[in-house]
Amino acid sequence: MASTKFNRILLKLSGEALAGEKGHGIDSEILTTMASEIASVVKSGVQVALVIGGGNLVRGISASAGGMNRAQGDAMGMLGTVMNGLAMQDALDKQGIPCVVMSAIRMEPICEFFNRRRALSLLSSGTVVIFSAGTGNPYFTTDSAAALRAIESECDVIMKATKVDGIYTDDPVKNPAATRFDDITYTEVINRGLKVMDTAAVALCLEQKMPILVFKMEKGNLTKATVEGNLGTLVHC
Ligand code: UDP
Repeated sequence: MASTKFNRILLKLSGEALAGEKGHGIDSEILTTMASEIASVVKSGVQVALVIGGGNLVRGISASAGGMNRAQGDAMGMLGTVMNGLAMQDALDKQGIPCVVMSAIRMEPICEFFNRRRALSLLSSGTVVIFSAGTGNPYFTTDSAAALRAIESECDVIMKATKVDGIYTDDPVKNPAATRFDDITYTEVINRGLKVMDTAAVALCLEQKMPILVFKMEKGNLTKATVEGNLGTLVHC
């Protein structure tokens, strides 16, 4: 078994990452590719917790812009994250990787109700645990859920897989002069107003000293990030 930099990681995927070109829904090919990336790090002995967003299905803030009550829209958004979690569980099943979906909102028998001690025990035994339904509360995001669950489940790092290969001084798409940080402190992220995760999530990570590694989600990168740990940008104290 290869020695890895991290023993237990929480991988945060945005819902949009599952949508592919269409920008909405779940693309089964992308799902399979992501599941095989996850399978390969699990096989290398890394314990994997997963938080998947729901932006490919519903975002409460967008629903409320269309006139819906915000908390109602957020409830729909949280249900969307459960759907994504179930889809990923199915894809991991097909790769022969044991996986349990937990939800912050009770909905047995579709998935288990969140239980921190059971999650710790499952992770220790090599089972992938998908934490769905966010924090279970409106007005939060799955970034905050990722920070919370990573801390509760004693992960070594949050791995935030994104469309860009790290954190830049400015939006690299709009500003070609923007440069990438190899590493950066939480305080600098907040002071510079850099969009890594929402501020509540970064503040929680700062308080609990939970590092965040931001990297581009493309083939082989999850393994590289887990084994070498020197990919993308590391946010630390
Ligand atoms: N959400 C929520 N509480 C949470 C997490 C998520 O209400 O603790 C809702 C919220 O409406 C959010 C949606 O679920 O917009 C989907 O999550 P998010 O926007 O974080 O998904 P991502 O952008 O990562 O795909």
